[in-house]
Amino acid sequence: MLSNVNLCIELIKLKPISSQQDNLSKICDFVSEYIQKNCHQLPKIQKIIHKQYPSLIVGSQNLLNPSVCLYAHLDVVDASLEQFEAKIEDNWLIGRGSGDMLGAAAASINTFIKLFNKNPNLNIGLFLPCDEEIGGSHGTKHCLESFKYNPESVLMPDSGSGLDKIVIGQKGFIVATISCKGFSCHSSRPWEGKNPIPKLIEVFHNIQKEFPNNQNSDYHSTIAPTQIHSGESVNQIPNQAKLTLDIRTCSSKEHNNILNILNKYHSETVKIDIFESPAFNISSGHPHIDLAKEMLNKLLNTEIAIIKEHGGSDARYFQKKAIPCIINGIKKENSHGNNEKAYIPEIDQYEEFATEYIQKYHEKFIN
Ligand SMILES: [Zn+2]
Repeated sequence: MLSNVNLCIELIKLKPISSQQDNLSKICDFVSEYIQKNCHQLPKIQKIIHKQYPSLIVGSQNLLNPSVCLYAHLDVVDASLEQFEAKIEDNWLIGRGSGDMLGAAAASINTFIKLFNKNPNLNIGLFLPCDEEIGGSHGTKHCLESFKYNPESVLMPDSGSGLDKIVIGQKGFIVATISCKGFSCHSSRPWEGKNPIPKLIEVFHNIQKEFPNNQNSDYHSTIAPTQIHSGESVNQIPNQAKLTLDIRTCSSKEHNNILNILNKYHSETVKIDIFESPAFNISSGHPHIDLAKEMLNKLLNTEIAIIKEHGGSDARYFQKKAIPCIINGIKKENSHGNNEKAYIPEIDQYEEFATEYIQKYHEKFIN
């Protein structure tokens, strides 16, 4: 069996970039073989493929309904070739995906194998989707909705804040594309046509007014126009103008509010296409959060902070099915950038935490 760090180095070598389905398939096969080689008895394993995106699901007892699921996405964002040759400097593992989240994935895989070998009666799952970095709809969403994957509790070390923090809020998103219809004519005679650009600007200004705290870094809902398209030629009134907005919402209530506001703008000339997913929220007093806090506090011998994050994760899909997620993560730097790095002692501490949590979970909530 490999150490967490050496397993992580092997995973990085496989270059599991979200857009390269062949590599994603290879990493799932590699992990599947690694698990079968190192488990004393055969666990249940299934590789699910949806629209060419694989997810690997492993279960000690019950493939679809484990008590605790160890979640880790195996895909990473693109990087230059040398970023896939991981190296160790001081206490840091440097390489694409070391922090997000192949380090934690390696620790989760080894946790599963060791716990399964020690106590095959624990009902544990390992869930390894491969499209989190591009939205998670072919991996987590598909497995939960169509494949009926339904764990009771999820450990998700996909945050970068360090092991001494637990995340109880992550923002939802609404990608809204506003299209305004006009009527084309020569721009020297604007009265002969209908220019959609002023209308688009007016609609955007009105929507933007709903986000008074947009420039404030506190935990608010935000709006950012990210793409704009209109016009073919300098002397022609265009017949269409389009603007895409990236909206991040801080609670389900605000999320629904904003959807209602956007829907009010639909008319004969204004169309709004929406792609959305709600915010993730779990109560800070949830018993699973309490247990995780207690375990981390003992392990790290420090106060555990409860925080909210601006980014999102696959937790949004678990939230939709009311499956509680414990989101934490190992300390990392330069996520998605060059020389991404993960703090090695926390990779190993994550294994200790997950092992303790799963055992205590079975004692406390099952037996
Ligand atoms: Zn991630």
